Amino acid sequence: MDGFESTEGVILIAATNRPDVLDPALLRPGRFDRHVVVPNPDLSGREKILRVHMRKVPLAADVDPRVIARGTPGFSGADLANLVNEAALLAARRGKRVVTMAELEDAKDKVLMGAERRSLAMTDEEKKLTAYHEGGHAIVALSVKGSDPIHKATIIPRGRALGMVMRLPERDHLSITREKMLADICVAFGGRIAEELIFGHEKVTTGAMSDIEMATRMARAMVTRFGMSDELGPLAYAENQDEVFLGHSIARQQNLSEATAQKIDQEIRTIIDNCYGRAHEILDQRVADLHTLAKGLLEYETLTGDEIVALLKGIPPVRAPYEEPEAQRGPGPSVPQAGRPRGIAPVAPEPQPGR
Ligand code: ZN
Repeated sequence: MDGFESTEGVILIAATNRPDVLDPALLRPGRFDRHVVVPNPDLSGREKILRVHMRKVPLAADVDPRVIARGTPGFSGADLANLVNEAALLAARRGKRVVTMAELEDAKDKVLMGAERRSLAMTDEEKKLTAYHEGGHAIVALSVKGSDPIHKATIIPRGRALGMVMRLPERDHLSITREKMLADICVAFGGRIAEELIFGHEKVTTGAMSDIEMATRMARAMVTRFGMSDELGPLAYAENQDEVFLGHSIARQQNLSEATAQKIDQEIRTIIDNCYGRAHEILDQRVADLHTLAKGLLEYETLTGDEIVALLKGIPPVRAPYEEPEAQRGPGPSVPQAGRPRGIAPVAPEPQPGR
């Protein structure tokens, strides 16, 4: 950084994902004067980024970037470019000349939940179990206060999961309430409880592994990082792992007494037990709804949040009769891809099996 005259008008810009491992000499005053942290874009940022990427593809009149932006909290700029690209590929595969909202919605689901793996052979028994597992998540999500609304529930395997209930926040979460964290833990247990309720103690599967991990991680964070345990009070008992990337030292020691460590474990246990109990109560009461929803999932495979609410009121979803893909009809597709050169295989390979 030495050797530049201040009159020479040279501006030096550098970027890193790991400011924590930079040589401190590089960060001394007079080296880099401004440090700008770039987080993922907010709602209006996402809308603007979408508009930039959408310039490269022909769009139908019904496309509203703001709606897509609202449905993609947490997406990075690269995720959004990927979404537009996937939508363009889908439109081309469907033989359309322009990208419509339908392609953008499907592309959003693909980016959010992974590609559908319709070829994965699931036995009827596995399908049924998955339908009740996802149904359990959905029923609890509909019943607890503070849960985000359901976007979609599906028993079509996507990515690594056999099925999935996606919830989308109505706005960007800048912070999360205690109520929402507890609700999310309840929802996480809905799957396993539904399995056990319907198929019995011996038949529960490993499918709940990631649910259990998520719930445990969240309960631990509530106690050790967010000061949400009355017993332990507002103290930080653990380093925020996320912020390792923002310059905190990795090697910082945390000294806990044996007694405190035990108390932490107890508090995590209490949170988990309470949430598990609450989810169990909900599913005990709404077991008829669980049957309705699971049967709906087995029949229609994917249900939107609105369709689930309607189905539980006895209104079945309306589906267009199956149509042959229109790829063969008409002149060739004219939809170019955005952000990625032509010629790259449009379908990502998915080698990982399992749940
Ligand atoms: Zn689950």
